Amino acid sequence: MAMRYPEICINTAVISKNTETVVKLCADKGIHVWGVTKGVSAHPAVASAMLEGGCQGLADSRVDNIRKLRLFGFRNPMMLLRIPMPGEMDEVAETADCCLVSMPGSVLMLDRACREAGTEVGIIVMVDLGDLREGVWPDGVEEMAEAIRHCHRVRCLGVGGNFGCLSGVLPTETNLSLLVKTGEELSSFLECPLEVVSGGATSSLMLVEKGIVPEGVNQLRVGEGILLGTDITRSRVIPYLRNDAIRITAEVVEVRRKPTMPIGETGTDAFGNVQIFKDRGVRRRAIVAMGRQDVRPEGLTPIDEGLSVIGASSDHLTLDAEDLRGSLEPGDTISFVPDYGAVLAATTSPYVRTRIINS
Ligand SMILES: *Cc1c(COP(=O)(O)O)cnc(C)c1O
Repeated sequence: MAMRYPEICINTAVISKNTETVVKLCADKGIHVWGVTKGVSAHPAVASAMLEGGCQGLADSRVDNIRKLRLFGFRNPMMLLRIPMPGEMDEVAETADCCLVSMPGSVLMLDRACREAGTEVGIIVMVDLGDLREGVWPDGVEEMAEAIRHCHRVRCLGVGGNFGCLSGVLPTETNLSLLVKTGEELSSFLECPLEVVSGGATSSLMLVEKGIVPEGVNQLRVGEGILLGTDITRSRVIPYLRNDAIRITAEVVEVRRKPTMPIGETGTDAFGNVQIFKDRGVRRRAIVAMGRQDVRPEGLTPIDEGLSVIGASSDHLTLDAEDLRGSLEPGDTISFVPDYGAVLAATTSPYVRTRIINS
């Protein structure tokens, strides 16, 4: 049978190796690693590879993904990586071992849902350390403690921080120390010791490498680093991790020489953006059958030298192929190194086939 494209190819051997490397780096500092599967829509083969690599549990932002993994038979600890919707509390109570919270009312709703489901769920109270997404203010844990004290099914595991998500604020010794201190405060309001200080994601690995993670931080939730070996918030390739685990491939459907300047009056493109063109004469260009319904085109870098992305619409991605050595024709394929957003989009799109290899 002919291959069908577009395709995302994931090498699980590389993913379990990367997990192992991150787990070992963190273990030396007393930090447990949770493998974050949302980037690949919780593909079970990737989840298995992360567990094989030694992470403590799996974390995903979607209850649907957690339920899917449960149905595949995963029995390991699972964390819901976002603050739950009031409308999904029953599912959280049924499927997750722990979840992130930031509102006292949500804690009470989750407790009620757990009572109905006959389960217990651990919670990590998110603290806003400046990124201005979810979380209580560092001086505002008392109201959370108040709610938690009313609960019998919800157990407070500790506190957590999130970085580089909405505003790009990076983890530092200073803001992580504040997180540890906030955890101590919550612990004293609750009059019980807390197990977890969850100090962020891939972007916190830099502090682990430098040995400057404040004492007390004992958990990281890592996705991007393990999957891609990159840290986009710091614009770096992580030197000790492999970055060849995931590739996206599409099929060429047109190759022609065309001018680089459009002909005729121009408005905006199909997505409302005004394009800017530079006249580089007539050049060879190729179209692959892959577009915004399949990936995030901005997050793709062609592997072969001599190819560069010109632009993309819903179903077509156009490349400049003038400098590519050799022939190129319909039926050939072009492979790309994807960034995190492109992988997230590709594994979410029903039009992209996932192929798992293990070598
Ligand atoms: C996605 C996510 C992570 C993992 O981030 P990476 O950059 O992929 O390591 C951790 N925590 C939360 C709350 C997330 O949403």
